[in-house]
Amino acid sequence: MAGVGGRKPLISGNWKMHHNHFDAIALVQKLAYLLDKDIYDRVDVSVHPPFTDIRSIQTLLDIDKIPIALGAQHCHWEEKGAFTGEVSPAFLAKLDVRYCIVGHSERRELFGQDDAVVERILHAILRWGMTPILCVGETLAEREAGEMIAKVHLQVRAALQGLSPEQVAGLVVAYEPIWAIGTGRVASAADAQEACAAIRALIADHRGADAAAAVRIQYGGSVKPDNVAELMAEPDIDGALVGGASLEADSFAAIVRDGAK
Ligand code: PEP
Repeated sequence: MAGVGGRKPLISGNWKMHHNHFDAIALVQKLAYLLDKDIYDRVDVSVHPPFTDIRSIQTLLDIDKIPIALGAQHCHWEEKGAFTGEVSPAFLAKLDVRYCIVGHSERRELFGQDDAVVERILHAILRWGMTPILCVGETLAEREAGEMIAKVHLQVRAALQGLSPEQVAGLVVAYEPIWAIGTGRVASAADAQEACAAIRALIADHRGADAAAAVRIQYGGSVKPDNVAELMAEPDIDGALVGGASLEADSFAAIVRDGAK
């Protein structure tokens, strides 16, 4: 079943730097056990383990035919070269990685990823046939100054440069207010809806109504089993990017079940 506007929701677990490959396998096995197969008709699910787990999880998903999509948390924009410590988007694509997060606030704040770098990585993800999950969101100071929509618009506009309406239609955008990430402080459903609707309206202005109707917009920031249904009931919220609550199978499975519109 598709969500509002024919968009199938996507619930993604961003594990950040948690779980070695043994823990990762156990988590995905339990998740697969907890989720009925028919849930995947109503919601897409992705997990984004650390790089060192990706090969193990790819093998598990493949052999056990688990319909969870494999995701990554980051990649470089070049295919190969002298970039010590970086990971090639081509290598991720080869491992059946379907979604790659780009522009997460932790990469922007801790690793100096600016809008220009985000744009390059986003293009590389597309070039290798994967789907970017583009993260945008405001700080608490920006929100208190009434700059929430302006900040998010700036980030979205910068990232979408040079993309066709068809490419934009296939994107996932994650609206993640920075003050809500890992803090237990979730945006109200109304505030999250306002920001997601503003992102969709911006896309409509710049890439047309069809792209805006098709693009999936997630909310991220302290999503838990007890708040996901309210968020997902909003018309412009098409899924969730989940950090802390995706680290345990029980809570992530509950979010997937309650988030399936
Ligand atoms: C995130 O890392 O993108 C995130 C939303 O984390 P949390 O769910 O823990 O707030």
